[in-house]
Amino acid sequence: MNKPAELKIDTVPCWIGGKPVASAARFGEVYNPATGQVTKRVVFSDAGLVDSAVKAATAALPEWRDASILRRARVMQKFLVLLQQNQKQIATLITQEHGKTLPDAMGSVQRGIEVVEFACGIPHLLKGEYSENVGTAVDTHTVRQPVGVCAGITPFNFPAMVPLWMFPMAVACGNTFILKPSEKVPSAATRMAELFKEAGLPDGVFNVVHGDKVAVEALLLHKDISAISFVGSTPIAKYIYETCAKQGKRVQALGGAKNHAVVLPDADLEFTADALIGAGYGSAGERCMAISAVVAVGAAADPLVKLLEKKARAIKVGPGDRDGVEMGPLVTAQHRDKVASYIEKGKAEGAKAVLDGSAPPVKEGFFLGTSLFDNVKPGMQIYKDEIFGPVLVVLRVDTLDEAIELVNRNPYANGTAIFTESGGAARRFENEVQVGMVGINVPIPVPVAFYSFGGWKNSLFGDLHVHGMEGVKFYTRTKVVTTRWPHQDTPAPGLNMPTLG
Ligand code: NAD
Repeated sequence: MNKPAELKIDTVPCWIGGKPVASAARFGEVYNPATGQVTKRVVFSDAGLVDSAVKAATAALPEWRDASILRRARVMQKFLVLLQQNQKQIATLITQEHGKTLPDAMGSVQRGIEVVEFACGIPHLLKGEYSENVGTAVDTHTVRQPVGVCAGITPFNFPAMVPLWMFPMAVACGNTFILKPSEKVPSAATRMAELFKEAGLPDGVFNVVHGDKVAVEALLLHKDISAISFVGSTPIAKYIYETCAKQGKRVQALGGAKNHAVVLPDADLEFTADALIGAGYGSAGERCMAISAVVAVGAAADPLVKLLEKKARAIKVGPGDRDGVEMGPLVTAQHRDKVASYIEKGKAEGAKAVLDGSAPPVKEGFFLGTSLFDNVKPGMQIYKDEIFGPVLVVLRVDTLDEAIELVNRNPYANGTAIFTESGGAARRFENEVQVGMVGINVPIPVPVAFYSFGGWKNSLFGDLHVHGMEGVKFYTRTKVVTTRWPHQDTPAPGLNMPTLG
């Protein structure tokens, strides 16, 4: 039930030019998914508000771009300390608006903070290349320069971590940035903007505009934005990629997923089942790297399904801020209903519902229980679609060959894992599987910040992954400089193509 209208609720403001901006023509409602009540409202930016953020970012660009790399690194170091000091507060905001458990939210903020740690090394990361005597008395070097005003559009499921994949890298590289976080979970973004200012970041370098597709459209079409990073569902990722390409903007658009875990008969099944339970039901399955399809090979299937059923049944569901709770609610009533409709669909399609979580174990809020389907076939909708909820499906195959083929036929390709004690099988899987991130006995192979994160196929539109060196490449342009000084006893080039010999 919604909070009665007469009760005053806080407004989550945008952050433009170093100040909160709370006045707008439209607002959205922010829910606590564990109670089902509206707790805040959030500004929904229109094109005018987006334009004022772009103006602030454009005005701040010349000074920030030319700031010494050490100055930029020192601001990042202070931001890192402030994030560490406020980690619990940010995690609490996430639990209140997203629903995931507090320890899970703490872990996700930690993974975001690690990108800031990486960005503190920006003086080293921005070093170019230098070659002396590429021709007689001719030298060549490269520099990496910021691309300009950048923007990031992020999903509901990681309110701090996914934005932190983007803006620390962009800002450390000398760009200015506008973040459009998910309207369902807006508070963490505004809080991080306050902390960044406290760290000494000049006004206008980092801005937050809240809102829905109206704000997104204004960002995509704004002529003064040079690069867009997007993370969200596949249809929107594709639309963002195509629109930005038409506008001549640099773009990386990470999409949805259907992550498979292949389990061979030689795997340690107790260990494997524990890993799959965490990866399938953690954060109520609302992770882009959640394992949502288990591919059981041969004799692994029967004992594995038994273990999964026992462990999934024992998961404690409840409000994410309560001690001992392992799985919180879904993010909205609409999303809960969509996930519930897949449970019905699975039964209608003839899959075996080993565990049916459609009757909510908690009365208030947007809860579902854990669901497990066995004997799922590749043609079924519960296999083909990204459900993004606590629903794990098991497909049975006879051989590793069939398992690899099944994974490679799927149009999504974010993450995958294999569980086995065979080095040879693991090596083959690693080599042949067509997926961006691979785990060997690791169910959620999210790379650490000094590697890059990204999928293949329908899980990423664009060429470069986020953070790590790919993040540095995305947020900079390479300039190649060739130098010749006169009076070095070398003749000036003539009319023919110079070969610099
Ligand atoms: P979403 O695509 O609905 O929304 C993402 C962002 O796009 C939000 O900021 C939203 O306001 C905006 N948006 C939504 N509809 C839009 C439209 N019609 N036009 C323009 N902008 C629009 O995604 P979500 O539901 O917030 O997040 C869940 C999805 O994100 C899942 O598919 C999940 O797999 C994916 N995800 C992917 C990764 C990854 O790394 N590949 C990481 C996290 C989440």
